[in-house]
Amino acid sequence: MMTSETAEEPTTMQTTQTLTEEPAAAGPKATAYELTEVTKIYGSGNSQVRAVDGITMEISSGEFVAIIGASGSGKTTLLQLLGALDKPTSGRIVLAGQDLTTMGERDLTLLRREEIGFVFQQFNLIPTLTAAGNIEAALATLGHGSKGRAARAAELLDVVGLSGRGHHLPSQLSGGEQQRVAIARALANDPSVLLADEPTGNLDTTTGEEILAELERLVVDRHLTLVLITHELAIADAAQRTIRLQDGKIADSEKPKRARKRTT
Ligand code: ADP
Ligand code: MG
Repeated sequence: MMTSETAEEPTTMQTTQTLTEEPAAAGPKATAYELTEVTKIYGSGNSQVRAVDGITMEISSGEFVAIIGASGSGKTTLLQLLGALDKPTSGRIVLAGQDLTTMGERDLTLLRREEIGFVFQQFNLIPTLTAAGNIEAALATLGHGSKGRAARAAELLDVVGLSGRGHHLPSQLSGGEQQRVAIARALANDPSVLLADEPTGNLDTTTGEEILAELERLVVDRHLTLVLITHELAIADAAQRTIRLQDGKIADSEKPKRARKRTT
């Protein structure tokens, strides 16, 4: 059969950023994550904790999923499993067709480097390095040569709306700006998945909303899959789907309105 591939029209919604990936496909969504009976047990005997307990779910590519639940319900553990930072005790996690649970450490490291970006509540910036320096350090870890690093860091700062702030130290930046630097750093490897553990937890409500808007924009512009832990319902409300954990299990999963009502 002849290839009937139609040439892609150049996007007419040209954004100002140069790092933008191809526009999101209109067809059925590809699966990013596929979890089957995923369980993570810490400890043994009487002190055994089933932090994640038999979770089965799928996350589509380009989806924004919020994970909520009380402290200790297993949110961070689940995120670490999704990020291949830890392996489940049992069950299967497939990311973009690759089974994380059968991969060796070396391949997992490569996968993390190529596919996954992390954002945390603590911004974890190196205090002695400037905003640009923090991103350049991440790029160096990824093997970018020293020559291209500065330009790429500037580009990434631009993506998160921080152009011109590259020479500031973290202490000279607001909390929201520091989190933007951390997000830019998380994008250094051009990941397909962004995993965020309470990214607005250290920010005031307004700044948290701004960071959320930034993340939402990145999901669309770069076709990122975003899994975000939060205890703020207003933040979770922005997600396409909210999953509530209780004792390591999915207590309920709701798919609220697609277009959220902005109250601001
Ligand atoms: P959340 O992020 O929802 O607050 P966590 O995933 O951090 O929950 O923790 C889930 C459960 O697993 C809790 O009971 C916690 O005490 C336990 N837990 C988390 N990490 C570890 C660990 N490294 N060793 C032992 N228990 C842990
Ligand atoms: Mg947690």
